[in-house]
Amino acid sequence: MKIYNTLTRKKEEFVPIDENEIKIYVCGPTVYNYFHIGNARPFVVFDTLRKYLEYRGKKVKFVQNFTDVDDKIINKAREEGITPGEVSEKYIGEYYQDAGALNVEKASVHPKVTENMNEIIAFVKDLIDKGYAYEADGDVYYSTRKFREYGKLSKQNIEDLESGARIEIEEKKQDPLDFALWKAQKTEDELAWESPWGLGRPGWHIECSVMSTKYLGETIDIHAGGQDLTFPHHENEIAQTEAQTGKPFANYWMHNGYITIDNEKMSKSKGNFFTVRDILKDYDGEVMRFFLLSGHYRSPINFSRELMDQAKNGLARMQNAKNNLKHLIQNGSGTMTAEEKTQLVSLEKYREKFIAAMDDDLNTADAISAVFELIKDINTATKNGSSKEFSEKCLSLIDEMTAVLGLLREKEASDDIDDEIQKLVEERQEARKAKNFSRADEIRDLLKAKGITLEDTPQGIRIVKS
Ligand SMILES: [Zn+2]
Repeated sequence: MKIYNTLTRKKEEFVPIDENEIKIYVCGPTVYNYFHIGNARPFVVFDTLRKYLEYRGKKVKFVQNFTDVDDKIINKAREEGITPGEVSEKYIGEYYQDAGALNVEKASVHPKVTENMNEIIAFVKDLIDKGYAYEADGDVYYSTRKFREYGKLSKQNIEDLESGARIEIEEKKQDPLDFALWKAQKTEDELAWESPWGLGRPGWHIECSVMSTKYLGETIDIHAGGQDLTFPHHENEIAQTEAQTGKPFANYWMHNGYITIDNEKMSKSKGNFFTVRDILKDYDGEVMRFFLLSGHYRSPINFSRELMDQAKNGLARMQNAKNNLKHLIQNGSGTMTAEEKTQLVSLEKYREKFIAAMDDDLNTADAISAVFELIKDINTATKNGSSKEFSEKCLSLIDEMTAVLGLLREKEASDDIDDEIQKLVEERQEARKAKNFSRADEIRDLLKAKGITLEDTPQGIRIVKS
């Protein structure tokens, strides 16, 4: 597989450090709100990278952090009169819900800043000991100029950076380019941890250096995130980690492009700011995923209702092809004829086409085209009277490719079941336990009116939504 490496600005053959386990780190969300469609892109893109590597037989260890210590979280907690911990816990839950709707799998590890405070403090201390950082009145700053290769990822010259940098009034930096590793507590209601420099909390960049090295080791295969993170976040991560370990931090850096809304930059002030939760009111999560994968991940994409409707239609065409095949399987019989065997050989060529596209720097746009070409040929090749075996082979070819893209997942019966329904189901269970059968039947009818039927299975109640 070839991957475009931001570090070298080239498409390179991907050679993992350890063939048996590929190590990927993706910068995760700051959990103070529902995530927006710009955030959704890296989640979906790098989840697809993971699914593809797994499809090619690789084991992947995938780490994506939750930033649960941040000014935005603290401000939100003040606004709502709850604790920062309550804010982050709530939005971690909301993250899982929306990511789940987009078929984004949970990472192997989702570490949080609050759970890694000792490691963060030890890392910062080590940077001071190694001469790359200094304490200033309870703050700790990274001495950017000490790291000779600073700017290598974003291809910026340190002198140019210096001329654009400024020191904010309250900061105690020695050089405008230095950045905070540790921030002293300013007011008493601010979140703070004990450290060798007094009460305070970590700066933003240090967490990723710490969690990546802790969970994946000193050098990892791929570090990924949105293009906007290249500078300063990823540049600073490199400076911190390579100064501490003396080794390359990540061999490949992958960055996805921006999203515009109706050809404009997304911003709250323009009123074109959408969370994924907003979009899910009108579209299925898979439509959003299809939309995000329909362009190359490094190209900018434009979000509009019109394009979402196109994505919806595209996805429906795929689903129709599957439904037709399921119908043929139900009504067909027998094994493949000689003609079908020949047809299958030519249909299987689309697998190679699909793989070639994905191998070319995760070209999901071309991979989706290969699926559509496959579907078109399957529609021509199958008919009433096709053998059951042939229809099954055709269906599994479609499933094989769409599963890699995270599309057309068979919905679990319990998906989409809202709290109210869940509560009714639980209440009915209780009623049955208490032998209050009239109430149990009443609830059953109530659910039926909502299009919900309940099936008793050995594994428990199965909720079926019609
Ligand atoms: Zn990060």
